[in-house]
Amino acid sequence: MSAKIIDGNAVADEIRKQVTADAAGLAASGRTPHLTAVQVGENPASKIYTNMQAKACESVGIEYELLNLPAEITQDGLLGKIAALNAGAGTTGIILQMPLPQQIDARKVQVAISPAKDVEGMHAENMGRLFYGGGAVAPCTPMAAVELLKRACPEMPTGQAGLAGKETVIVGHSEIVGKPIAMLLLQSLDAAPTVTVCHIATVDLAAHTRRAEVLIVAAGVSQARWGAYRRRKKAGEDVKVPDLAPLISAEMIKPGAVVIDVAINRIPKGFDENGEPVKNEKGKNAMKTVGDVDFQAASEIAAAITPVPGGVGPVTVAMLLANTVACMKAQI
Ligand code: NAD
Repeated sequence: MSAKIIDGNAVADEIRKQVTADAAGLAASGRTPHLTAVQVGENPASKIYTNMQAKACESVGIEYELLNLPAEITQDGLLGKIAALNAGAGTTGIILQMPLPQQIDARKVQVAISPAKDVEGMHAENMGRLFYGGGAVAPCTPMAAVELLKRACPEMPTGQAGLAGKETVIVGHSEIVGKPIAMLLLQSLDAAPTVTVCHIATVDLAAHTRRAEVLIVAAGVSQARWGAYRRRKKAGEDVKVPDLAPLISAEMIKPGAVVIDVAINRIPKGFDENGEPVKNEKGKNAMKTVGDVDFQAASEIAAAITPVPGGVGPVTVAMLLANTVACMKAQI
């Protein structure tokens, strides 16, 4: 079998079109959605991310503002800024850029964002609503994973009905990905899939994944192994080159399954005899971006699969835009 490759960019385009129409409708009534990104200190990685957010917002008619705060800001100082954004009519959505400096408790700041302006769907109140069947927003990546499943899978008719009773296994139980995916999938009272959530303490992972008609993987194992190796090697420890093979091999997948790979592992392409990553033509570490699933081999036996990159990632960005519009609508 050769799997259908689920095209995240195409699904993201469809979502962006809808968001553009919604944002234009809101703007016509004098209420253009306005997303404020809060960044504390300078961080090259988050600069790439905020540039991307700015472009994405501009492309759909959402106003975007980057609030740069000094790295030494106190917790109270930051909470004060969030309170002002919550109260201000100009900002209709707030996103908190990670990482935050050490003196800041990220969770306390996250829950200080008004649930009505929480475009990431991470506030405890919005998470709680997921449990009760869903509010205006949910976390972006889980929404993206479930949307891909519903929209782009030929084996599942679009909509929840196609998933009814399907053996669905999620690998990963984090608060921002695995658990909310389970909650989203369980929202239907009479047409939900049967959901199993696996995690680091799961005893026989393959036994679960092999019976999954729908397999959703969000563990980031190769990246974690590479990170641990790099840290220990830097500290001068005598460590072995880690096994960076994908967590999910083809043998762990049920023939005909639908596979959604949420993971993003940025890992070296290989190692030299000294255990250092091989270099590219610029003399830097030659890196690759892969998921948790052995994509090539899995494509031979799955019915449909998301690639990494080009699967869940682009839809996650589109979902941030959709949430920004949804927050604005809910505020009205
Ligand atoms: P996390 O580290 O918070 O959670 C990892 C989860 O995987 C945990 O539940 C852990 O128990 C489980 N796990 C770890 N090793 C395992 C193993 N050997 N077997 C079974 N389960 C195991 O990570 P996260 O924030 O949930 O992110 C998960 C992955 O999703 C990462 O690769 C991350 O980069 C990716 N991600 C992608 C997007 C996107 O936009 N596509 C967004 C967020 C996260």
